[in-house]
Amino acid sequence: MDVRLKFLGGAQSVTGSKYLLELDKRKLLVDCGLFQGLKELRLRNWDEFPMDATTIDAIVLTHAHIDHSGYLPRIVNEGFNGPIYCTEATASLLEILLMDAAKLQEEEAEFAQHKGYSKHNPPLALFNTQDAKKALDMVVPITYQEPVNVLESVTATFFDAGHILGSAIVSLNIQGETQQKKIVFSGDLGRYNQPLLKDPYAIHDADVLFIESTYGDRDNVAEDIEGQLASIVKTAFDNDGCLLIPSFAVGRTQLLLYYFHRLLTTNQIPACDVYIDSPMAISSTNLHKIHRDDHKLSIGRGEHESIFDYPRFKYFRTQDSSMSINSIERNAIIISASGMCTGGRIMHHLFNRLSRKNDTLLFVGFQAEGTRGRKILDGEPTSRIYGIEVPVKCHVEHINGLSAHADRGELMRWAGQFKEAPKMTFVVHGELKSAHHLSLKLKEELQWPNVMIPRYLESFELFTGI
Ligand SMILES: [Zn+2]
Repeated sequence: MDVRLKFLGGAQSVTGSKYLLELDKRKLLVDCGLFQGLKELRLRNWDEFPMDATTIDAIVLTHAHIDHSGYLPRIVNEGFNGPIYCTEATASLLEILLMDAAKLQEEEAEFAQHKGYSKHNPPLALFNTQDAKKALDMVVPITYQEPVNVLESVTATFFDAGHILGSAIVSLNIQGETQQKKIVFSGDLGRYNQPLLKDPYAIHDADVLFIESTYGDRDNVAEDIEGQLASIVKTAFDNDGCLLIPSFAVGRTQLLLYYFHRLLTTNQIPACDVYIDSPMAISSTNLHKIHRDDHKLSIGRGEHESIFDYPRFKYFRTQDSSMSINSIERNAIIISASGMCTGGRIMHHLFNRLSRKNDTLLFVGFQAEGTRGRKILDGEPTSRIYGIEVPVKCHVEHINGLSAHADRGELMRWAGQFKEAPKMTFVVHGELKSAHHLSLKLKEELQWPNVMIPRYLESFELFTGI
């Protein structure tokens, strides 16, 4: 058997992860992500898929983030008609994330039609909710650590990656005619010693390794998050205002709830209500209640006991309940999405609170260049919302260290658990600078012999005549 590899994304970029394995005539795609961020990357989503999608036999997903799963509806639309294997929690999250992504695509197309700037006439969505539903019907949920046959003579095993609920390191075992080979995909790796998620599972060997490198060039020290949050809440309330937090719906919101539950139950902050004002964050929180064994918050608690049911947490799903928060003037914490202030319900909160000097806006995540969140954080005096320049008069705070990605030290810690160097290592899912830095560390500190940073659409012969 011959095994070839082609990088259809996630090479020298953090988005669009798609790794194609060809085993003689059969094809397996690992991850099926959307390109995001810079326009030049996003346009790749519209390119003709570089091969006949009907010839792919199966897809394996490491986790549900859109940059790993968001191309699924498109590839289904292009004719892919095989099983999509992922963990149980990933399957649940996909239902929320893919439907949301499809809705966004449809809204964007409608908006483009309205504004008349689309090059398509009428404007097209990259995919629609029908495509997303079709993709969801093809998902096959798999239990962690139970090998499953994904192709004839290929098994996949999922190990907890500790990155988001359901995230996995995927190990593929290939049984050739004469030899067995093991290919490991790190997926996105989480951090060590986190309150919400478990540590990334230790892998000890592989013939070929794909390792992510999002933060391959920096350490994100998470120093006393609890203390920092307590101090920001207290100051915000001393200022006689509310604390508004734009947050990602999956993972980040639940981590914040963990911290606020602790701070409130140990009286480190004054008693107050915490409003979770995002339907996606609420659905995602509910999934953390269902998939109890996939995170650490259920440890030591009764079967129906969850910190997320804490009475001070107010889950607001409807538009009316969301609008009612605007009349709250002080001593409340409001968590809403999107995390970078690019859309969603956070917009009306910003519209209302940015100009209030008593309120505090707290960023808890990376703000990408060009986003409204980044501009506010960089100190722009006004922000244009609903066509109006809103003056930024509230206090603006920022906490680092809540990232869901392993940093440089943690990537090296995970790689350091290999008992023998992989025969071949591909450093993926990182900007060139991060990938380059990690690749140097792997070569110099661990003496790994063959470490490569592949390019978009590059191909390799992995094994011949096995
Ligand atoms: Zn991810």
